[in-house]
This record gives sequence, structure tokens and C-alpha cells, in this order.
Amino acid sequence: MSILVVGSVAFDTVETPFGKAERVLGGSASFFSVAASFFVPVNLVGVVGRDFGEKELAAFTGRHIDLAGLERMEGETFHWQGKYSYDLNARETICTDLNVFQFFKPRIPEKYRRSEHVFLGNIDPVLQLEVLDQVEKPRLVACDTMNFWIEGKREELKRTLRQVDILLINDSEARELSGEWNVVKAARAIRAMGPHTVVIKKGEHGVLMFTEDGSFAAPAYPLEEVFDPTGAGDTFAGGFLGYLASAKQPGDDVLRRAVVMGSALASFCVEAFSLDRLLRLTRPEIDERFRLFKRLTHFEPI
Ligand code: AMP
Repeated sequence: MSILVVGSVAFDTVETPFGKAERVLGGSASFFSVAASFFVPVNLVGVVGRDFGEKELAAFTGRHIDLAGLERMEGETFHWQGKYSYDLNARETICTDLNVFQFFKPRIPEKYRRSEHVFLGNIDPVLQLEVLDQVEKPRLVACDTMNFWIEGKREELKRTLRQVDILLINDSEARELSGEWNVVKAARAIRAMGPHTVVIKKGEHGVLMFTEDGSFAAPAYPLEEVFDPTGAGDTFAGGFLGYLASAKQPGDDVLRRAVVMGSALASFCVEAFSLDRLLRLTRPEIDERFRLFKRLTHFEPI
């Protein structure tokens, strides 16, 4: 059992009220892969430039992350710069230097083509569809997107969504995609576009999941120190899909536990810049936080 992930591998420059990190490892596929690799092997497809060195690669080695699909091109690696105010739910993008990412044409290595689980990170929906054209009947396709594609490539995104089982999206994006202000109505409208499950991420206010069986809510873990929220969404997706892929039987209970597992992983991600906390994380720490989530949300004797 493994997961194929396609997305950005980046250098991020991030400023928060608590400090600044320059050109540190980031990108949707990076956060996703490290989080998911705690549960199942991950096959990463992305692109980096010549400036992506051994130091950055070290984040992936020694884990169950296969890099045969990580292409290296002449030029510089994708660079994203963002700034957060004290409201860590709101961030401003200072710059997006696509660099080699603008030429990215995902090529899925032969050995990944029978992947049963696929995560389409936040990239052009046309490329997301090209990825699906290269894989043979996956059991589960999950997908992320952002306002940039909802505004610029709405029809293409809708075409991709017809082949997606689970869409992970934040609340403002869900409103924009559906044209519905209310998130319950927004989720219903998005489910009619294709995905049987919609997971709406609300930052420090947690997650809402809408499935065939109804809805489920999980809070974000109440941390005393939130240092840098960058990558929390992708880390959530990695924990969520990693857990689902490792589960023997699908079902609503498994989906619910996957949401809590994703939330547990994301709560570690925000404790430090870049992937710093995730790279120090151990499986017993994850299991302990999962247990604390259970205590946090139980209101009757366990
Ligand atoms: P998240 O905080 O989970 O939404 O994801 C943050 C990550 O997304 C950062 O590490 C960025 O490098 C990456 N990112 C930002 N903008 C884009 C974009 N336009 N395409 C792909 N990845 C991006």
C-alpha cells in the first residue's frame, strides 16, 4: 500500500510575528510526504532546480519516501514568500517565483502507475487531470486546490473534480468554488460536482468533513505556541490520507479517525518553521496527541 503525491517542492521565506525563516524547505508535496510517510510509503512526483541540494534532500531520505519521480531541471527551485500577522489564520503572499515549476509536466514513473491512493497537491487542475490520465484505476483520489485556480481555471477544475473522491479545501475557497456563503450548503454543492467527501479546513477553528453518512467536526489542538502555520493544510492532508491508506477497511469511522490523525499531524507542523518539527517527530508522539484529541472532545465518561 502506498500513496502517489504530486505537488510543489519549494523554498519558502516566511515571516510571522515570532520570527523569520529564509529559503527553508517547503512546498505542498514536501509537507504531505513527510506526514504521510509515518503511515505508508510515499512516491513523490515534483520538480526542483539545481539549487536544491543534499541538505534539502536529507529531509526525505531515511523515510519511506521514494524520490524516483522528483525531477531536477536547470534553473531555480520554486520559491514562495508569505507573511502572517498576529491573526495566524490570515496570510499575505509577498511573492511566488515559479522558476522551474512553470515548466512542470508531471511524468509518473512506470512503477507508480498502479498506485491505489493518489494525492493531487495544489497545482494547475489541467496537470492534475494529466496525472490521473497516467494512473490505472486508483482506489482513492484526494485533491487540494486554491483560489488562484478557482478564479483562473474554474471549468478545468470542475473537470478534474469529476474524478476526485475527496476534496480538501479551506472555508473561503469552498465558498468561492460553490458560490454558497454557508459552508454546509457549499459542501453539498461541491459534493454534487464529483467528490463524495469534502473536508473543509478552517485553520485554528478545526475541520468539518461532509460525507455520504453526514458530517463530522474536529477542533484544532489548542496549543500554547503556534509558531508558523505554513504547510498545516498539506500536513493535515498527509496525516489524513496516510491513515486512510493504512486502514484495512474503508468506512465512516475510519474517515473520522483520519480527520483526527490529520489534525494531530498538523498541530505539530505549526510548532516550528518549515518541516523542522515534523522531521523530529516520532510515532509515539503522534499516538499520544491522538489520545489527547480523544480526551479533548469527549464529554461523557470514556
Ligand atoms: P499550506 O500552508 O498548507 O496552504 O501550504 C503552504 C505551502 O504551499 C508552502 O510551503 C508553499 O511553498 C506552497 N505554495 C504556495 N503557493 C503555491 C502555489 N501557487 N503552487 C504550489 N504550491 C504553493
